[in-house]
Amino acid sequence: MMPAYREHPSATRAPLTPTYSIVIPLYNEAENVEPLYRELRPVLEHLGEPYEVIFVDDGSRDETYQALLALYREDPNVHLLRLSRNFGQTAALAAGFDFAQGAVIIAMDGDLHHDPQDIPRLLEKLREGYDIVSGWRRDRPEDFLTRRLPSRIANWLMARLSGVPLRDFGSTFKAYRREIIKNIRLYGELHRFIPALASLAGARITEIPVRARPRYRGQSKYGLSRTIRVLLDFITIKFLLSYLTRPLHFFGPVGLLALTSGVLIGSYLTVKKLLSGISLLQHHGPLLLLSMLLIITGVQLISIGLIGEIIMRTYYESQRKPIYMIREIRSRRTASAHISAPEGDESR
Ligand code: UDP
Ligand code: MG
Repeated sequence: MMPAYREHPSATRAPLTPTYSIVIPLYNEAENVEPLYRELRPVLEHLGEPYEVIFVDDGSRDETYQALLALYREDPNVHLLRLSRNFGQTAALAAGFDFAQGAVIIAMDGDLHHDPQDIPRLLEKLREGYDIVSGWRRDRPEDFLTRRLPSRIANWLMARLSGVPLRDFGSTFKAYRREIIKNIRLYGELHRFIPALASLAGARITEIPVRARPRYRGQSKYGLSRTIRVLLDFITIKFLLSYLTRPLHFFGPVGLLALTSGVLIGSYLTVKKLLSGISLLQHHGPLLLLSMLLIITGVQLISIGLIGEIIMRTYYESQRKPIYMIREIRSRRTASAHISAPEGDESR
């Protein structure tokens, strides 16, 4: 069979680098590790190409790490990252993405929520020329009020505002072309917004329905509170998408409007004072106050915009720093090739 994904000839990667990297973040999933691996392995073997499975232990407090260590000892395709504390799913995913060497990177949950059997279908779609294929959980087995309804609303909002026509932004079950994911930095709960960020860089994105099973064992790590954090991240992303490279355009217009009207009112009052000599404080107190307030606000908004411009430039010029810290790496890779740096030019 022809390998489906060829690296660019100039790429400097070891000869036996994997075609597929599976990245799985885990937080207190001890009971799920073994069953997940047993389901996953035959599917990956069946693909007939070299692969690696990267388990990221996100500071679990149960036996997750021990369970993963057993797999690591038994299978050379298994790599194990252990974060120094619980950093959250997004950071855990980012750690795995940075470590991954595959030409295609697949993310999935560690609770058997996602069915490994769907992986070949994700890959097939990717082969059609897409950069990201997202798993759409059509029939979710979760509670309607606390999980499905908020997610419906959030998805609708995100599709509208980001312009990416996905029905399920929350699904972490996705296949990415390496180049795409390596160039996106993740913060907060931002892993949900990878498609939006990627589309900004021109990525082709699609989704296919996948089976959504209830988690196998253990508790979901999230409740309704996640909706609020996602909403806040959404404001960030909307701002980033539209104004990251030009913050002055966001603050400037309002600032200019305030400043001009403040100056106009102030001039009117000054002229009146000069002509009639009345006491402004006595006759036009509120208007005087308004004029001063508008001028101060206007100057401040414009200043914030300018500072934003400076920060934005610093952000782009400065070194990228990872948002996680690794305590321990278990991998049979050579030491120099551990965390691979982001590739190519930063997309602006
Ligand atoms: N997870 C993680 N760190 C966290 C919370 C969750 O690595 O702080 C992992 C978790 O172990 C699981 C995946 O992220 O593999 C999705 O979490 P969960 O199944 O609890 O979310 P849900 O499927 O309920 O949205
Ligand atoms: Mg789950």
